[in-house]
Amino acid sequence: MTELDSPLASGPFDVVIVGGGPSGSSAAYWLANAGWSVCLVEKKTYPREKTCGDGLTPRSVRQLADMGLESEVAAHGHKYHGLRAFGFGASIAMQWPEHENFPNYGYTITRFNLDGLVAERAHSVGATVLTGTEAVDLYEPFDGADGDLRGARGVVVKDKATGTTRVIEGRYLLVGDGQNSRIGRALGAQRNREWPMGMALRGYYTSDRHDEPWIDSHLDIRDPKGDVVPGYGWIFPLGDGRVNVGVGLLSTDRAWKGVNTTKLQDYFVAQVGDEWGLNESTSCGTPTGGRLPMGLAIGPRRGANTLTIGDATATVNPFNGEGIAYGYESGRLAAAAVGAALAENDASHLRLYEENLEAAYGDYYKVARAFVRIISEPEILAVCVGAGLRVKPVMKELLAIMANLMRNDRQGPAELGYRALVKLADALPERAFSMLTSEKVDA
Ligand SMILES: Cc1cc2nc3c(=O)[nH]c(=O)nc-3n(C[C@H](O)[C@H](O)[C@H](O)COP(=O)(O)OP(=O)(O)OC[C@H]3O[C@@H](n4cnc5c(N)ncnc54)[C@H](O)[C@@H]3O)c2cc1C
Repeated sequence: MTELDSPLASGPFDVVIVGGGPSGSSAAYWLANAGWSVCLVEKKTYPREKTCGDGLTPRSVRQLADMGLESEVAAHGHKYHGLRAFGFGASIAMQWPEHENFPNYGYTITRFNLDGLVAERAHSVGATVLTGTEAVDLYEPFDGADGDLRGARGVVVKDKATGTTRVIEGRYLLVGDGQNSRIGRALGAQRNREWPMGMALRGYYTSDRHDEPWIDSHLDIRDPKGDVVPGYGWIFPLGDGRVNVGVGLLSTDRAWKGVNTTKLQDYFVAQVGDEWGLNESTSCGTPTGGRLPMGLAIGPRRGANTLTIGDATATVNPFNGEGIAYGYESGRLAAAAVGAALAENDASHLRLYEENLEAAYGDYYKVARAFVRIISEPEILAVCVGAGLRVKPVMKELLAIMANLMRNDRQGPAELGYRALVKLADALPERAFSMLTSEKVDA
């Protein structure tokens, strides 16, 4: 039990939220801030580890600032100004672009420090936050309309410390329980296995270069013979004496099934180790890994009184593996829809969530899914990266697209290029992109 716990919490609440990561805590904040009674259920106790690159882009910073948390994040995190990309013998450093809605900087901050801040913020505006409390089942589930998620009158939870179970009732149920999403699956959510999925691994190292003002992305990883292997690597300085070093891989990569991310991490550390002082003696422990459900590949996401958010509905951006901002944003969009349903006593307003999610990311993620299929071809990747990294203006525009930082008030190459890609993605059915590339290997 922690100071966030409330012994009387059993409901009925207006909204029960499962999962206190970015998506669940943001939904809890926005709903409680609007005056609704909210119970957030988190199985771990803060601070808790979460396997992540710990990188916040300007999109995440905007959401944290909107929740009144930027000064806390600045106090615990490390400010950086842009991305350095490396690959196929070339490199480029790019500042985050100027944007009407987003800052031109990001932070790195460990999830150990970050996630509790947002849950506490939700608590400070009135949400009941039960930590060390795992949702183990749906309470009084009922079938939804054809093609929708099931509904439920709440969840059955287990107190991890005592092992006792009880029911927490809610008029609405939001599910933000992450990439494995046991509760989302119990409601009937499924991943579209035709679409890309990510897998990544990260470890911490101490490094003299821990406070550099850039995050680094490496687009080629080589084995000891010097051959390129599928996957990408990153080094994110944390400003606390450590760097976060990791590797990622997409299910569209031809060799996905044969690749061991631990081996990939070993190759990557060998590749960049001398420059960053990464070795066994600077390692802070065994790396840990996880999946990145992306491109809105999990659905359905709406039931009679239920919505899924964040990784539980695959909101990770396929272009860059970023999921924190989209967790915050989907949690906020879900909160708005549930708020409307509660205010009007009309559950049909939950439809707003899907409509707004589709409007915000539908086209973008369609383009991104196609993009990752194409760059999963090693030959195409080598040509594009090798050439692209040598032409700074092209890369700056690509960065704006890949980080979803195109501007509404501008008709620059990023915005025009992106609109052209949307048209292309609209014209060609999803399957046609996989036919343009290799035979797809499923996750
Ligand atoms: C190796 C790796 C590196 C990454 N790097 C980055 C990065 O640098 N930047 C970025 O933006 N994104 C990154 N991501 C993606 C990002 O971590 C996720 O997209 C993001 O955490 C999703 O937030 P969420 O709230 O949906 O889920 P989560 O953050 O997974 O939160 C889910 C929460 O639910 C809790 N929970 C689960 N089941 C239950 C249950 N039954 N009952 C109660 N609680 C439950 C969990 O304990 C957890 O706290 C990375 C992912 C991986 C795997």
